Amino acid sequence: MQITKTLQSNIQQIDFNNLSFGKCFSDHMFIVSFKNDEWQKPEILPYGPLSLNPGTHVFHYGQAIFEGMKAYKNKQDDILLFRPLENIKRLNRSADRLCMPRIDETIFMQGLTTLLEIDKDWIPRSDNMSLYIRPFMIANSEFIRATPASEFKFIIITSPTSTYYSGKTNLKIEQKYARSVVGGTGFAKAAGNYAAAFAPTKKVQNEGFTQIIWTDAISHKYIEECGTMNIMFRIDDKIITPKLSESILGGITRDSIITIAKQKGIQVEERRISVSEIINYYKNGRLREAFGVGTAVTLNPIDSITFKNIVIDIEELNQDSYATVLKNELLAIQYGKIKDINCWTLKV
Ligand SMILES: *Cc1c(COP(=O)(O)O)cnc(C)c1O
Repeated sequence: MQITKTLQSNIQQIDFNNLSFGKCFSDHMFIVSFKNDEWQKPEILPYGPLSLNPGTHVFHYGQAIFEGMKAYKNKQDDILLFRPLENIKRLNRSADRLCMPRIDETIFMQGLTTLLEIDKDWIPRSDNMSLYIRPFMIANSEFIRATPASEFKFIIITSPTSTYYSGKTNLKIEQKYARSVVGGTGFAKAAGNYAAAFAPTKKVQNEGFTQIIWTDAISHKYIEECGTMNIMFRIDDKIITPKLSESILGGITRDSIITIAKQKGIQVEERRISVSEIINYYKNGRLREAFGVGTAVTLNPIDSITFKNIVIDIEELNQDSYATVLKNELLAIQYGKIKDINCWTLKV
């Protein structure tokens, strides 16, 4: 790997007590190009602009995929990653779907760990901060013929972040637009999925909601995800969550929360969940909690859900809420504060 370090670190310019998500970037980035059917020599460079031909394929056809993960610091100043191999597996599933090359686990992990060691001062040592890691791949061929590219770039950039508190979360159940369809790219972390979700999301935000609850594209009767997170409900003392499908993204947080809940003796059901079922549980007083789960926020409690003229109000959290208990447990594992019985964390 070729490493070129910056002559001038930007770290002094960063107000770590006032981080807004994804706006400031660490000093270095990892880049490796794919050409002639193989990955070339990886490099670490000072963070900075890429120079790209306007005919570069990604600008026209959107062959672009990404991942989202975090590095944490424990009390001993060790750098901890959370289930990174799951991110690599998912990146490669996304690559297959978007007709892009798979990345080798060694290239990814060597690139990432070297980058983290070089930029370790950018990983905040605090219980509510971490370093957000954004690996991504773009089509880099210089032609605008609508055929798959043959050249690509895989890049990792990082950004210090705090657990972003978003205030109240009031969601609206979507009845017209779809985030993804069966047979589409919804299970992949494809950049285009996000592009297609922005306009419908903006629309509900103009109506005063925080985010959308996405339903299946055909009947809009079944719940899929909320915003860019997986969704879970507590019915009595059981958790229910939509079963993974081609139109739902398999979150690593989702999988981890399910595992932790089961280990605590909580029953978890993964199945199809209809909107009318949730409304009935609410009317019968059995819907006790609802929350979104994903890397950026870990676990985000939902305050209300609106369907047409029905508003489902969800009780405030308390110490015994599943949302509180499960979130604290997951964070304690991620920050290396408790025994990691599932061997999820990886010390860099
Ligand atoms: C990334 C993502 C998630 C959450 O996945 P995690 O691995 O838990 O971060 C959920 N839904 C969508 C659409 C996503 O893009």
